[in-house]
Amino acid sequence: MSRKNDKKANKQPNMVYEQETSDNLSETLHEGTIIKGYSGFYYVAFDGELYECSLRGKNRQKKVKFLPGDKVLFRIGKGVDDDTRGGAIEELVPRKNELVRPPVANLDQLVILSALADPAPDLRLIDRLTVFAQWNEVTPVLCFNKADLVTKEAQEKLAEIYAPTGFPVVFCSTVTGEGIEEVKAMLHGKFSVLAGNSGVGKSSLMNAISDRWQLATGQVSEKLGRGRHTTRHVELFQLDQNTLLADTPGFSTLTLPEDLKREELSRLFPEFLARLSDCRFATCMHKNEPDCAVKEALTNGEVAQSRYDNYLAFLEEVIQQERSF
Ligand code: GDP
Ligand code: ZN
Repeated sequence: MSRKNDKKANKQPNMVYEQETSDNLSETLHEGTIIKGYSGFYYVAFDGELYECSLRGKNRQKKVKFLPGDKVLFRIGKGVDDDTRGGAIEELVPRKNELVRPPVANLDQLVILSALADPAPDLRLIDRLTVFAQWNEVTPVLCFNKADLVTKEAQEKLAEIYAPTGFPVVFCSTVTGEGIEEVKAMLHGKFSVLAGNSGVGKSSLMNAISDRWQLATGQVSEKLGRGRHTTRHVELFQLDQNTLLADTPGFSTLTLPEDLKREELSRLFPEFLARLSDCRFATCMHKNEPDCAVKEALTNGEVAQSRYDNYLAFLEEVIQQERSF
């Protein structure tokens, strides 16, 4: 019988569940990672297993909202049946960072997946996502798939555009296997969000990396299956204990952060920030100001034209956004 039905049959499900488990909870606190919240329970990964955890009284009263990726201290307890491991969450470990959309915590990196061709890379979207990542204190990683479809020169052109940013760049092909080891290494032991338009090869890439990806929610996802379209949910995949990947649609319509100010934007372009101290004005926005080191670097080819053009487009957007508030 599913947990949901159990609850229905019982007038005071939460209390009963706590009584059932409280006597059996481990003394030791373990640090685990929240994979998913579902139906009032949180699924905590710890030491290769998944624990269905309830919240202890104080967290429930405080209405603490846990996110996938959250680290928590929990006690291991008895599961609802022999197949389920249970537990109770005691405490949230302070977050390193937190995204609102998709709602996840403690991200290590945003993997921006594009195809080198079919479809051609959308540099505006890539740069928008790098701004978004850095605003949220997450490292952007650029991954270009379908390397088999273009020449080495085409790859080098992209590598040149992004080299001054310092962002990690990987080229790969799920067809030839080129670069797949590099992608694996880049994901290993980290919590990544994978962003990319459909058709760039997300599913092919995940398959190429491993056939052992698990929908991190296990059984829960099956129950979720029916109602999947109703929730704005994150799909979390797990390769091993510490390698997590959230796949999320909807990044292509991303707007710039609402509270991003115009003077902050250029700081999210690392190759601009590195030159700011050489601009005549400390407040230089690298647009109309004289003696601008960024515009000089653009002329020298040390800053890519596409990066600069996208910066100006975003600057316009930020200014429009400021006006509308
Ligand atoms: P998704 O929509 O991002 O999940 O993309 P898919 O994994 O479904 O791939 C979209 C299309 O691109 C499919 O026809 C794949 O066979 C193809 N594809 C994926 N990776 C590569 C690649 O590295 N090279 C080439 N030539 N085609 C690829
Ligand atoms: Zn400047």
